[in-house]
Amino acid sequence: MQVLPREMLARDWHKQSSLATSQGMSEFDFLSGIDAVPPTPILIAPAPVLRQVTRDVRAEDMAFLREQLPGMFSAMYKAPGIGLAAPQVGLDMRFALVDVAEEDAPREPMVLINPEIVTDSEQMAVREEGCLSLPNQYAEVIRPESIRVRYRDLAGEIIERDADGLLATCIQHEMDHLEGILFVDHLSTLKRNMIMRRLAKEQKLRRR
Ligand SMILES: [Zn+2]
Repeated sequence: MQVLPREMLARDWHKQSSLATSQGMSEFDFLSGIDAVPPTPILIAPAPVLRQVTRDVRAEDMAFLREQLPGMFSAMYKAPGIGLAAPQVGLDMRFALVDVAEEDAPREPMVLINPEIVTDSEQMAVREEGCLSLPNQYAEVIRPESIRVRYRDLAGEIIERDADGLLATCIQHEMDHLEGILFVDHLSTLKRNMIMRRLAKEQKLRRR
């Protein structure tokens, strides 16, 4: 939901993006030196912030958001992971990173700001999911096979795109995070409790 009329909001966002363009900066230039960037620590379940519903990103948040990206991308790539949502690094903001490119392929970074699902398919798909906030835990999750998603990109443009396969799964998983939902919430209570207990045990052993 947006408070300002769309035209006015768009102008605010564009003010920011034309600034970036005039400085000749590609939105993802920072990725060239990403391996040297210290990764932002990722919070592990049951951290309470993972259960919060995030607030929308506003135009005036963009400078702060950009500052978070190098550490967040570094954390995601190092893990390695294919998605990371703001709450996983303790941020109460509606945005997530996604990159589902194969390991040897060129990177395909996306930043989804204030994403919304426009449509999803009746056709469902089952895929094994894991989560950087639930390390070493995996389970099969059923979700719509394809989606159309609308979001703002780093330039403030509203993008609408169709996604299927791994990308559709990953975007839905990350968008769940923005609602305080974890992939284990899609499982039976029995299975979820089993995974959460196993995670807690493994984390305790790690801390020793
Ligand atoms: Zn996750």
